[in-house]
Amino acid sequence: MARVKIRGDLAAALAAGPVRRAVDRVTDRAEQEVREHAPEAKVWKTVGDEAVRPAHRHADGQAIPANIPFRLKRDEDESKAQGWDVAAEPLDPSLPLHQRIHCRCEMVRQPGAIAAAVSRTSVQIGRARVSARVTVEWPRIAESEFAEQGGGWLATAARAAVTGRR
Ligand SMILES: [Zn+2]
Repeated sequence: MARVKIRGDLAAALAAGPVRRAVDRVTDRAEQEVREHAPEAKVWKTVGDEAVRPAHRHADGQAIPANIPFRLKRDEDESKAQGWDVAAEPLDPSLPLHQRIHCRCEMVRQPGAIAAAVSRTSVQIGRARVSARVTVEWPRIAESEFAEQGGGWLATAARAAVTGRR
């Protein structure tokens, strides 16, 4: 009868199977939870003619998470102030008058657009670590997670994926 010696790396490889499957399951759950918790996107849209003011032309096509404000370039002639005026949507009453008057811009909602930008890696097995990554690639997505309004959705999704609770 032969003795079988199991080499260390083989033992590790055998153990890696269940660990890999467990990490794979959690990652699947995490991806799904992030998709479900992701905010919708909103897009600033001008009518595209000559009368559109430069700040709004600059904002045209800005597609951002719905829980954070659009950024409009400040009118340089007006105050020499650098930076942005912020608006939840076109004609936002909190905007200075020159950003609102005669504005014909629209906001277009894109439900599911950010959810569709969620992806995951396959499980990576290292010497001391088994890992996988869930990623959301979208402009200003970190700002959305840390926003006072509607923030924390990524943390909530991660918690739900690990505990199985919401
Ligand atoms: Zn406008």
